[in-house]
Amino acid sequence: MGVLSNKVDKSMLKKGDHIYSYRKAHLYSNHGIYVEEDRVIHYMSSSKSEGGCTNCGYDSNKQRGVVKTCLDCFLKGHSLYRFEYQVSSAHYVAKRSATCYTGSCNKPNVVVQRATRMLNNNGGSNLNLFEKNSMCFAVLCKTGNPNSAQEVAAKSKVKMALGLLDDLWTLAALFGLIDPQLDDDQAAESDDVDESGDVGGEDDEDGDEDEDAGEDDVDEDAG
Ligand SMILES: [Zn+2]
Repeated sequence: MGVLSNKVDKSMLKKGDHIYSYRKAHLYSNHGIYVEEDRVIHYMSSSKSEGGCTNCGYDSNKQRGVVKTCLDCFLKGHSLYRFEYQVSSAHYVAKRSATCYTGSCNKPNVVVQRATRMLNNNGGSNLNLFEKNSMCFAVLCKTGNPNSAQEVAAKSKVKMALGLLDDLWTLAALFGLIDPQLDDDQAAESDDVDESGDVGGEDDEDGDEDEDAGEDDVDEDAG
């Protein structure tokens, strides 16, 4: 393995990537989904007065919750990292918390669709479930599975109320990520990819996994 950092350069980002950056001397991290050129969908709970961004127009006074901003608004001057999926158990144990997950994730277009849906459904709702848990939001976008979000949060020692798991399921259903009555049909609703049966992703090595592995190699070389 040998890769101690998930740090990446902006130029290495691909649509659907789960990215994050640290805040306050690594006390916590801010997570989001890279959805298009220089745009990130993420959960913002704070509302510090910083004025509107001249690049993406994001105004923290007016917009909070699930927002789409430029990378600069997301990073706020901090370094950029990419969250890894389908890492080995040993890797998972060795890595710093909240940086990777052993479970699989969905294909980039599905992830982007999901994040966009979360963004579009944010208006008018008063959801504080992801407060300081932008990671849960991002993992949910990547996997469509609230259990994954909870597992990653547990690993990261994020203090989560027991009720949050139920809330995540509620939220996922609300956003149309899952249909509570059709457990096995999460994929059918989300996308029309050829391998629609592969939402679990275990047999997905021919797809995104290869690409991700390639990027990791770049990481290694750079580090
Ligand atoms: Zn901006």
